[in-house]
Amino acid sequence: MSLYLEQIKQLVELQHVDDKIFVVKQELEEAPLQVEALRERFNEEEAKIAKINDKLQHMREQQKRLDMDLEDEAARLKKSKSKLMQVNNSKEYQAMSREMDNMERSTKTHEEERIALREEIEIQEELLKDAEAVRDELKIDLATKEAGLIERVNSANEELEKLNTIRKETGSDVPERILERYEFIRRRLEHPVIVPVKNSVCTGCNIAIPPQTFIEIQRGQQIWSCPNCQRLIYWAEHFQDMHQEEKKAKQEKPMVFAEDLNLGESLN
Ligand SMILES: [Zn+2]
Repeated sequence: MSLYLEQIKQLVELQHVDDKIFVVKQELEEAPLQVEALRERFNEEEAKIAKINDKLQHMREQQKRLDMDLEDEAARLKKSKSKLMQVNNSKEYQAMSREMDNMERSTKTHEEERIALREEIEIQEELLKDAEAVRDELKIDLATKEAGLIERVNSANEELEKLNTIRKETGSDVPERILERYEFIRRRLEHPVIVPVKNSVCTGCNIAIPPQTFIEIQRGQQIWSCPNCQRLIYWAEHFQDMHQEEKKAKQEKPMVFAEDLNLGESLN
């Protein structure tokens, strides 16, 4: 295999390790956020329950007042009825009957209010039951996730450590300046750093590279950057060739290539 392809292969391997590191770092970032989001949901549900309870308390007080008003009205009506028996003046009688009519109307209104209030209380009690069921489920889920978080973070950190060790061993044949370029891109673009060019399109940014650059990367003598996204690029078909070469090399005697490479201007 040519030194160029060997370097590309190592960079792609490095990229694979970095892909894994990327996933683990994401896990490290997201795991606490997921627990936090769940805690927020739990708090929201608690607030909802408190609000319903407030409403219910207010309505129950209202209900008590209505009950008292109705009791009061019933007593007054009873008193008026017995008074009415003793009246012999027709003017006074008419005045008292009017007053009693008013009392009865008021009682009717209060009774209707009480029915409506009772219905509303039933609705709120149903809502409360549902909210409490959701809250209880969230509570269990939250406790489980909180307990698992430490374990998740620990295993992710262990994995990260392993990957960082593998990373140090990868890319040993890649010239320093290419690795520096790789790191430079990694710090800025994060992910991925090296991408194949397929049908003259950079698969990192999905934009066609200039024809001259495409010709250059097909030559496979140096490592180029995409003029648009700055990622390191290689011709996808070289990589296929590389796999074929690997197969061939296994069948035949292994060969050592000592090509003099120009790792050049494209990286400046
Ligand atoms: Zn690009």
